[in-house]
Amino acid sequence: IKIKITKVDIPVAFASAFEGEIIRRKDMRVEFDGSRVDCVELVQTKEMNEVEDHKITVVGPEVDSFELGSKHSLAYVVEVAGKKMQPDFEPVIERKFHNYINCIEGVYHTGQRDMFRIRISNDAFAAGFRAKHFGEVLYTQVKNEFEAVVDKCQVTVYTDPDECTRMRHEVAIPTFDKRDARLETLTDESVDVYYSCILCQAFSPSHVCVVTPERLGLCGAVSWLDAKATNELDPNGPCQIITKERPIDVNLGSYEDVDEAVKKYSQGALEHVTLYSIMQDPMTSCGCFECICGIEPFSNGVVIANREYAGMTPLGMTFSEMASMTGGGVQTPGFMGHGKHFISSKKFMKAEGGIERIVWMPKELKETVAERLNKTAKELYGIDNFTDMIGDETVATDPEVLVAFLTEHNHPALSMDPMM
Ligand code: SF4
Ligand code: ZN
Repeated sequence: IKIKITKVDIPVAFASAFEGEIIRRKDMRVEFDGSRVDCVELVQTKEMNEVEDHKITVVGPEVDSFELGSKHSLAYVVEVAGKKMQPDFEPVIERKFHNYINCIEGVYHTGQRDMFRIRISNDAFAAGFRAKHFGEVLYTQVKNEFEAVVDKCQVTVYTDPDECTRMRHEVAIPTFDKRDARLETLTDESVDVYYSCILCQAFSPSHVCVVTPERLGLCGAVSWLDAKATNELDPNGPCQIITKERPIDVNLGSYEDVDEAVKKYSQGALEHVTLYSIMQDPMTSCGCFECICGIEPFSNGVVIANREYAGMTPLGMTFSEMASMTGGGVQTPGFMGHGKHFISSKKFMKAEGGIERIVWMPKELKETVAERLNKTAKELYGIDNFTDMIGDETVATDPEVLVAFLTEHNHPALSMDPMM
């Protein structure tokens, strides 16, 4: 075993001991919030001659010029080159940024892709921590942990808001879309193995994601291809192969192999997990789910709320209130954290009837998933423009008004079997 000593050239400590550290609003110097302004984190594969090793560039003002307690855009792009580097590894490296940045003393990171939030504490700022140090941390850690594939690495940190907008919309989002599109051709039936992911056990010790082609990790950042690449890069790492040779119930998505794997990787905390049910042994949730769905008893359906949505849902709960009942690595039948892309999956709560159960979503989320969701609804049930039947906050935030809307639009959930 090779033991690596990480020495990162920054003015504050860097250690996994700081990973769970939370920076409260009153203790923070500045915040970068992807749900409010343009933020993005990205890895890009380049040719060897396009990368200057250990070059760190800041484009835009340093943190010094930001007002105390203010909110800003931030983008960091890590360009890597190496003979063995593959674009398939980009999201795997990217997903580690959460962990790297959280290890900085006085810095807190949640989320991923273009939906992260970072806070720098007053103490870290006073010690001299600046935006350029994100570059130092990312450079050192990427070189350290991905030396098998990364020969050269350079980092650009953007704090200029226009540059952040440009990077997000012109570079990052097309990259993310391309990655997501690759997965569309794969189905759970067409592959021989699934993968576990335990990257979130730092926060939720018993949490295990089972990642399949049609069900990505609930953070939205770990697809089956990512999990596969993670396993190839680091065979003893967070993603392990789960065979699927001994099915128990294909409709529920339960397998003896999956049960054995979750039992092992949750250290015995979980015995049974199904892939396709939110009622029977649903998968657990950590804390970084993009969305939560919860059953809405009056309509026989489910309500979905996404992290960016700050308003009320017809369950009488906000996203945060739903999150407080769902997270922590425990199974809560009737509630489940999931990725945005899972909403249009043919496996989305398939055991309870599938996407036909969706009765409400915030308008913005509905618009984001509309194209794919409508396509799935057409394929599965022959329904046209399914999203027109789904309520949102402009229609109803209480169950009675919602049921009236669903009745008027002849929503299929109303005539389905009760879920409870
Ligand atoms: Fe892995 Fe799941 Fe955490 Fe995503 S949410 S990093 S898939 S454990
Ligand atoms: Zn998580």
